[in-house]
Amino acid sequence: MIKQCVVCGAEFDGRGCSKSCSKQCAYIRMRETKKLEKAKYFAKYPDRVKAQKAAYRARQRAKAAPQREIKEIERRAKLANLIASRTRECVVCGAEFYAKTRVKTCSEECWKTRHRQTRLRPEKNLSRDDSLKKKMEAQKRLNDKRKAAMKFVRKLFEDNNAESPI
Ligand SMILES: [Zn+2]
Ligand SMILES: [Zn+2]
Repeated sequence: MIKQCVVCGAEFDGRGCSKSCSKQCAYIRMRETKKLEKAKYFAKYPDRVKAQKAAYRARQRAKAAPQREIKEIERRAKLANLIASRTRECVVCGAEFYAKTRVKTCSEECWKTRHRQTRLRPEKNLSRDDSLKKKMEAQKRLNDKRKAAMKFVRKLFEDNNAESPI
């Protein structure tokens, strides 16, 4: 039976209730029909459609929330780590200071003192016990610094009424 395609107007040999000539035209027709149905539904129940859309958006937002939270947690943990790694103790006077570079002294004054010390190398005169003690103290200071960084992150979360990951 020769029919005319409702989409492109071409003639084709169609059986039964077929209304389009090809798969492409059938797809276009289906899409148009769906659009029409949607428009009709919206005209009939506008409030229902709006509520459905709002619910969908709320679900999408809820889905995205954990990802955002994880990113925020990672960002804060990184920040705390960075602060801890950049907070160091002056090798001369022992004062804590913050520096982005790998500098070992807190001030010009201490830098000059250290310069003199390294040239004279007084650490060569240290006894083994003293040197070990020095190392253990350094380790303890590092641990304290890490603990302080963890505390810093926990406090950040507490301030925002969120559960801390660490
Ligand atoms: Zn067609
Ligand atoms: Zn210093």
